[in-house]
Amino acid sequence: MSKDRLFIVVPCYNEQQVLSTTDERLRNLLRIMVDENFVAPDSRILYVNDGSTDNTWSIIERLTTEHECVCGLKLAANVGHQCALLAGLEQAAKVADITVSIDADLQDDINVIPEMVAKWRNGADIVYGVRRRRDTDSWFKRNTALTFYRLMQHLGVRSVYNHADFRLMSRRAVEQLCRFRERNLFLRGMVPLVGYKSDTVTYDRSARMAGESKYPLGKMLNFAADGITSFSIKPVRLVLWLGVIFTFVALVILAYVLIAYFTGRTVSGWASLMLSIWFVGGFVLIGLGIVGEYIGKIYIEVKDRPRYNVEQAIIK
Ligand code: UDP
Ligand code: MG
Repeated sequence: MSKDRLFIVVPCYNEQQVLSTTDERLRNLLRIMVDENFVAPDSRILYVNDGSTDNTWSIIERLTTEHECVCGLKLAANVGHQCALLAGLEQAAKVADITVSIDADLQDDINVIPEMVAKWRNGADIVYGVRRRRDTDSWFKRNTALTFYRLMQHLGVRSVYNHADFRLMSRRAVEQLCRFRERNLFLRGMVPLVGYKSDTVTYDRSARMAGESKYPLGKMLNFAADGITSFSIKPVRLVLWLGVIFTFVALVILAYVLIAYFTGRTVSGWASLMLSIWFVGGFVLIGLGIVGEYIGKIYIEVKDRPRYNVEQAIIK
């Protein structure tokens, strides 16, 4: 009999529409894996309720009483997908040998989980689920995501292309991840920093079963900005270089003005003057904004607030 205890961690925010179906599919999969002696019989599914405003928690509570293999974690407030996921992983790693994180809408193919476990047995501490195609995402989401990944790579952030937060982590990998103390979480950039041996499995991503995406455009852009500014200070350096270039241009203009003055040519250039004032003003503001973004991050980090607050834990 396998002694490796698996915890499937599922963050849930207002997921009452999909939760029952999700639970059924996950339990089926877990039962098969247990029957085939692939994981320990006391393996669990852990739902993390991220301060939902609908019936998500009462559904989770009911599931925990009906099924031995279902556990629940209730956070006291909505802390966002990344923190909720970390809360679940942190709890799970106390008792589990392996954890698999997956979104509640099961857009990721749960049937590759056994393959993930197999790769873990082969010595990988982290196994990334990587999407083969993104046909089911809208054209817009697909292309913004691609641009974002490229940008991240360009800025020197090591992240796995087309991997979201569907991954297997060994207990020690989660323990190491929890030692990253930052509040601005961008897990898919942090996990590669853990550094243990990793592997990937590929799958096709399907469309959301029901309910709405909890990542509308605004949240997505915020997430992207966090991802960049939490991992790279290159934007600040870019501002510095822009400053250097502008100073140089200003010197050239100064030389031109002096020459014009001494050769007695009058300069009528009101338009060019106004133009440059606006241009420079704009760039200065952008520069300030970028610097401000980092100062804001520092502000949030130095407060050292807890990342989440567990209100109730049903762990069996
Ligand atoms: N989620 C969460 N807290 C939030 C927002 C989302 O726990 O504040 C969960 C949500 O329930 C889902 C996962 O994060 O399990 C991913 O959200 P979603 O599927 O809506 O994102 P998308 O796939 O559209 O990027
Ligand atoms: Mg989704």
